[in-house]
Amino acid sequence: MALDFRAKAVAAVQRLTPYLPGKPIEELQRELGLERVVKLASNENPLGPSPSAKTAMAAQLEECWLYPDGSGYRLKQRLAAHHGVQLAQITLGNGSSEPLEFILRALVNQGDEVIYSQHAFALYPLLTLAVGGRGIAVPAREYGHDLAAMADSVGPKTRLIFIANPNNPTGTWLPSRTIYAFMKQLPEEVVVVIDEAYFEYAHSLRPQEIADSSQWLGEFPNLMVTRTFSKAHGLAGLRCGYSLSSPELADLMNRLRPPFNVNSLALAAAAASIENVSHIERAVRLNQQGLDYLSESFNAMGIDFIDSIGNFITFRAPIDAAKLYQKLLQQGVIVRPVANYELPDSLRVSVGLEEENQLFIEALRQSLSA
Ligand SMILES: *Cc1c(COP(=O)(O)O)cnc(C)c1O
Repeated sequence: MALDFRAKAVAAVQRLTPYLPGKPIEELQRELGLERVVKLASNENPLGPSPSAKTAMAAQLEECWLYPDGSGYRLKQRLAAHHGVQLAQITLGNGSSEPLEFILRALVNQGDEVIYSQHAFALYPLLTLAVGGRGIAVPAREYGHDLAAMADSVGPKTRLIFIANPNNPTGTWLPSRTIYAFMKQLPEEVVVVIDEAYFEYAHSLRPQEIADSSQWLGEFPNLMVTRTFSKAHGLAGLRCGYSLSSPELADLMNRLRPPFNVNSLALAAAAASIENVSHIERAVRLNQQGLDYLSESFNAMGIDFIDSIGNFITFRAPIDAAKLYQKLLQQGVIVRPVANYELPDSLRVSVGLEEENQLFIEALRQSLSA
């Protein structure tokens, strides 16, 4: 008889449900024999990488037989200058998901509590469970984080708090000053992770209200801020992100970092991207126009949606959401179901190129009229 590995697995792992990614373009092409497929399911930047990132990758290609710089020195130098922090405060990750995992593994013992919001990014509960932590999902307020309620949930076993600003998949956000006030009243031994995956978009849409939280690192040794090259920088396939924290937290995370966790092409592309202001400006302008177009179209169709300052919008499906998702797939448009976020009646659509947004709206109209 075969060994039952599932029964022998780590208890926390037995209870895990894998992360559900957006459907890949090729998969849908394969399944339905479709030529033209538009993927608006994973909040990627439809402009792709900047020209300077592509040039840097091409130059690095010849060197790919060498192991990457395991310390990521050149990228870290640029990030340090960009944020005004020391090199020792930066932890590089294979996507920003990795530092999120490192901090959990570094701080959360069996039964320790981790606080996040209802409807918040799926990795928080998943990673918390994986390390044997106890996740506390604080009920959302108008789909967003209820910081007062989250503060009230802090107890002696609380190790970590996750705040996604803006949050994915809801696109909801908090003004920086509100998060600052929250930090001020919090016990110093509780670490707060502010996930700023969509910072570039959010800051461009609300320049007065959304600030770079890493500016507070000097004041809060228990603060950690994460950023990624997957979204506005257009490098999702390379997997590169980072966290900024006190050197003490960075040292703990660095112990867990697998050797060479960021590959050499990613390091080169990221280093070339960080100061490419014009590419980010193009991306945020396109996003602004796309959000306007999608909101106006939803309004015209009488479809409810959540106001977003990310590069995506979650909207209420006027018919069964799973059915609508399938109807859109039939027409070659991939969006994202969000039932696993306790939003069973909604779908999330990423902002694409102008013509992709139009194709989506056209497919949506078709789906609802048929
Ligand atoms: C996309 C996303 C990330 C970043 O993922 P990467 O691992 O950097 O690709 C992190 N947090 C949130 C909320 C996200 O939506």
